[in-house]
This record gives sequence, structure tokens and C-alpha cells, in this order.
Amino acid sequence: MVSEFYPWHKIMETISDYLCTECKHLLYLGLNTKEEICVNPKCILFPVGIEFYNVKGAQKLKNEIDELKNSLLAKMKEFNETILKTLIFSYRKKLIDGFFAGKGMILNEFFTTNQMFIDLNSISPSIGRSNTNPDFESLLQEYSYYVTRLNFIDDLENRRRLIRVSDNEVFQIKYLDALFLMLRNWGLISSSIGITEDVFRYSEIDQQVREDIQLEQGMELEKYFVQFFEHIIRTKYALCLYYRTAQQVKYDVSSADIAALLGLFFSNRSKWTVNGIKSYLLNYEKYGLDIDAFLREYMVSKARAPILVLIEGDQILCDPSTILFLLFHLLGLNDENVNDPSQSIAQKKQQAAKVFEQRVRELLSENGYSVPDKPVKISRDSPEYDAIAIKETEKTIVLAEAKYWDISPSSISGWTLIEQELLQKKRLLDQMLKQRERVEFFKNNFEKFKEELTISGERETYKVFACVVTKYTPLVRKYKNVHAVDFFNLTNWLRKVI
Ligand SMILES: [Zn+2]
Repeated sequence: MVSEFYPWHKIMETISDYLCTECKHLLYLGLNTKEEICVNPKCILFPVGIEFYNVKGAQKLKNEIDELKNSLLAKMKEFNETILKTLIFSYRKKLIDGFFAGKGMILNEFFTTNQMFIDLNSISPSIGRSNTNPDFESLLQEYSYYVTRLNFIDDLENRRRLIRVSDNEVFQIKYLDALFLMLRNWGLISSSIGITEDVFRYSEIDQQVREDIQLEQGMELEKYFVQFFEHIIRTKYALCLYYRTAQQVKYDVSSADIAALLGLFFSNRSKWTVNGIKSYLLNYEKYGLDIDAFLREYMVSKARAPILVLIEGDQILCDPSTILFLLFHLLGLNDENVNDPSQSIAQKKQQAAKVFEQRVRELLSENGYSVPDKPVKISRDSPEYDAIAIKETEKTIVLAEAKYWDISPSSISGWTLIEQELLQKKRLLDQMLKQRERVEFFKNNFEKFKEELTISGERETYKVFACVVTKYTPLVRKYKNVHAVDFFNLTNWLRKVI
């Protein structure tokens, strides 16, 4: 995708709690010290004498992690392979079932199970056959720590986090909190945070546009799967939070793979033999399925998280909900080989955006404003206004633009965050500039608006405010006369700013 960007200097006129006041680069926050610093060495606010480890400096950390890995692999070898794999498999299944039951998912635990499977595939068949079983819980805990460290390296490499040389204080992008909030809203919980009341805050809106569709013979898959668009978005966020974890689910997928996985899902079996699954998969050869390649990719890969798990006696562990979870992920990938539902997903997102607009109008109305219950457009050349809210008693008019978008996990890197979330066309700054134009148009055509809406007084007697209402905390909160505020802070904003 070719993207256009706004020039950097536009940012200089923004006000943000997340960007340096001087140079508008990202602010970082010390996790223990709570210091807020600008890490741009060219900025006058860059702290004198401060130094961060470069990625080479992280080499020491990588060495520690290698040692940890070796000790964990040695521990795994003390287990009976079949028992260990069955325990991990059941644990992962429990996480996925919880995800579908709307309980949320602790991401680190999920990443841990995948990492264990990948590592097991890399040491199999040297793992023990003993019948004594060491403590699984403690192995899981140590593995979880190991995975946290691996993801931490990932964070250092993409500059989400930095380590200060003088005292090893960890600084992270201050705006990262908004990302974690978004993940919680999708029911995805980072291990360090725990479950809070803001899990699934927006699910009511997304459910509004959901429809129940039964799968019928010969039906286009995308038509069936589009009803699960929330799950498709959620799995994408869950799996692609780190570059590393995204690689683990970057399967070499063909449309025949999708058909075969769907077949395994509907067969609803939790056990197969190798011969049994091979003869079942023969049904999909006519769609071009390469059975051996399929099993290499989804069962015994040393790079991708296995979905099917091979145990002793040529038995295979299989779980329909795990397959479904993977299917959601694969269908969400924008791959031309796959029967791609992204168009329909985009449509669902647009429908949800309309519901969100309506919620914004309702909220303004609850705050005592008179608001037309649909977007306003006064002529062919007029821009469309999501909400025009009028309060005669205070002689105030609020022009609000609703933007129901998520933060792209891939943009959460110290290198790309500002460009992707702020400067790219159609992102925040673009929307704020457009809102500014709407304000101008509104003022210049006030008489026409007055005829259309219930405005009684003269143009000069009103204070006009403009805002872009977002789903999550916006990266900047003001550009010239246009504010940006998230939905859950809109009421506060109305009271404080106006
Ligand atoms: Zn700065």
C-alpha cells in the first residue's frame, strides 16, 4: 500500500501529552522512576549525559536468554513427551475456550504454550520417555518468564522500550498505555496488568452489526465467517502484538489449507492417527492440498506454532476450537491466496463505525445538547458532519467527528508510531485538518445551517468548538482549534474545555 504522509512540521502545532513539547518526538516513561523524557538526541530537552543500550548492548541480555533456554530444554527432556505435550495442549485449549467464552485471554500465557510446542518440535525425538513427571506448573511458570524476556528483546529492537545504561532503568513509549487499553477492550490482557473493568468496553457496538449466518453447502466462506469479524480482529491483535509472535503464526497458507482446516474443524474430532488424518485429507487433494506439506506446516514445524500435535504411537491431538482460532487468524490475513474476507470485514467495521457515530450523538444529547439524530450535510458541496450539537442556554455549538478505528499493533514501534498513527493520510492529523475545514465551512455558511437546524441566535453569539472523537486515547489532543478526545472522556471534555 502506498501511503501519503503529512510533512513533519504540521506536528509542531499540535498539543500532546505523549509527544515532546519541543521537538514532538515520542516521550518515554521510566517504569520505576516515572521520569518522562525525550529521547531525541538533537532536542534541547534530551537529558544531558543519558545513554541507552543499543541493540548490541542487548546482546548480553540475549546471552542470558540463551542460557535460560538451554536449561528449560533440559527440563523438558525430563518429561514424558506425550504427557508434556498433552498438558500444554490442554492448557492452550483452555485459554482459547476462555477467549471464545468472552472471558478474555492472557496473551503471555498463550505465547508461552506456542513457544513450548515450537521448542519441543525442535528437540523431538530426543525428549525422554520416562514415566516420572516433574512439576508442570513450575515449568510453565519458568517458560512464561522466558517468553516475557524474549518479547522484551522484541520491544528493545523496535524501540517500544529502552534501557538506560547508568541504572538499567527501563523506559517505554508513553503512548503504549493506549495500546494496552485497546487490547483490553478486545479482551486481550497483558500478563502484567490483569483483568480490569475496561475489558470489552466496545463489544456492545460490534455486536450491533453482527448477524447469525448458518454455513450451507457451496456457500462462500467469507459470507459465513464475516459474522465473526470481532473474533477475526481480536485474533489478529492477539497474535501480532510482537514481531516475534507474528512470525510464529505466519503460516505458508493456501486456500486448500483453509478448506482442509475447516474440514478438520467440522469433523469435531479430538484425536486422529497419522494414517487416519492422511486418508481424511485425501478429500482435499482435489483442491490442490499437499498433505505432507500441510502436516509439516501445521504439526511438526520448528518455526510455526503447531495446531495439530503429534504424540507417541503416531497419535495426533486435535481440538476444534484451536483450529477455529487459527482459522480466524488466517482469514484475517490479507493474503491473495486465501478466500479473503477482508472486504466484508471492512464493511462490518464501517457498519460498526455508523453505530459509534450514533453513540457519539446520543452522548452529546445526554449532556444537554440538541443533536440531529443523523449526519448533517446542507448542500452538495457541503462536508458531512457526524454531529452538530447545540446548547442554546450556553450559546455553544460542538462539531464532532466520530472515528471508530483501532491502533494498528504493527505501528507500535518507536520507529513508526508517529508516522502511522498521526501523519498518514486518513489518520488523526488528517482528520483534525478536515475538521478544521468543517468549522470554516460551518461559520461561512451559518445562515444555511440555521435554517436546517434549530439554531435561534446570530453567528457571533455562539462559541463553536470542534473535536474528533476516537475509540482510544488519541496521540495528540489538540491541533489549532480542533480537539481530539476519546469517547469515554467526551463528557469530561465537554465539562472541562467548554
Ligand atoms: Zn524533544
